Amino acid sequence: MNGQVTKARMNIQLWRPAALDEAYSLLEQLAPDVCAVSGSTLLQIQWDKGILPKQHLVSLEGINEMRGISASDTHLSIGALTTLSECRKNSLIKSALGCFSEAASAVAAPGIRSRATLGGNIASKIGDLLPLLLVLDAELIVYQKELMRLPLGDWLIDEDFETAIVTRVIIPRAEGERVFYRKLGRRQAFTGAVAVIAGRFLKDDGISLAAGHADITPERLMESEAIWMASGWNPHELYETLMRELPFAADAFMSAAYRKKAAANVIMAELMAEGGE
Ligand SMILES: Cc1cc2nc3c(=O)[nH]c(=O)nc-3n(C[C@H](O)[C@H](O)[C@H](O)COP(=O)(O)OP(=O)(O)OC[C@H]3O[C@@H](n4cnc5c(N)ncnc54)[C@H](O)[C@@H]3O)c2cc1C
Repeated sequence: MNGQVTKARMNIQLWRPAALDEAYSLLEQLAPDVCAVSGSTLLQIQWDKGILPKQHLVSLEGINEMRGISASDTHLSIGALTTLSECRKNSLIKSALGCFSEAASAVAAPGIRSRATLGGNIASKIGDLLPLLLVLDAELIVYQKELMRLPLGDWLIDEDFETAIVTRVIIPRAEGERVFYRKLGRRQAFTGAVAVIAGRFLKDDGISLAAGHADITPERLMESEAIWMASGWNPHELYETLMRELPFAADAFMSAAYRKKAAANVIMAELMAEGGE
């Protein structure tokens, strides 16, 4: 192994590989007491909560192929190490996918965003950007012995990719389609969202909807999408379906029903604005 090793307090070892295959080998060889680290902002929260860090941390920050932003006529390709500040400010992202820049602005606070990465937000499986990436049909390039490209929705539920390194995110441009993203909260900062919802009105009159919040992996709302797409959709039926389908959980501060009502009301308002019944 060529990764440089740093010994830190609590006997934690930080590995700094410069290539994907080297990082992946370290993760394999040091399992199970190892994890990948990008900005380490989410890991910091977990450590603050008393969840002990792994003994080995494999920093991905030296892997250049996980950096860089490029755009084609149809897609944006964003390196997983891109910070949320860059996602917010980058002119290519702003012009090709303004909704994504705005969504990045709603994650955490400026000091956190300057360290936090897009890859970490995705790999956590609970990040606030996930509902938007789901409705945009984002795909991931992941490394697990080889590079693979797969839909974000599949990666989120497929346990075969638990150890994969997320290297890039490919996002279609969604030109000419209205996209909405709402992070519903009781305060702007330092509090988990009540709900995070996203929707995309497709060119063919279809819709994509997704929702999540800090403690759960977001999901597409397929039943609700199907009701919207049926001709002559009934608002009461759609509202009831949303209340059943929204995958929300209670926490110490609010019930699942409270979250669902807040999210369903906002989604219904967006659907009505688009030309509801
Ligand atoms: C005060 C505070 C407020 C926050 N507010 C929000 C918020 O409003 N919304 C929100 O979504 N998040 C929030 N976070 C969490 C966090 O900042 C973001 O989710 C961030 O994008 C995580 O990125 P990171 O690079 O720091 O990930 P890390 O902490 O480095 O890693 C997060 C997880 O992903 C894994 N990982 C990291 N990179 C990769 C990769 N490329 N491939 C595979 N696995 C990887 C790690 O092993 C770890 O399990 C907050 C954090 C703090 C400290």
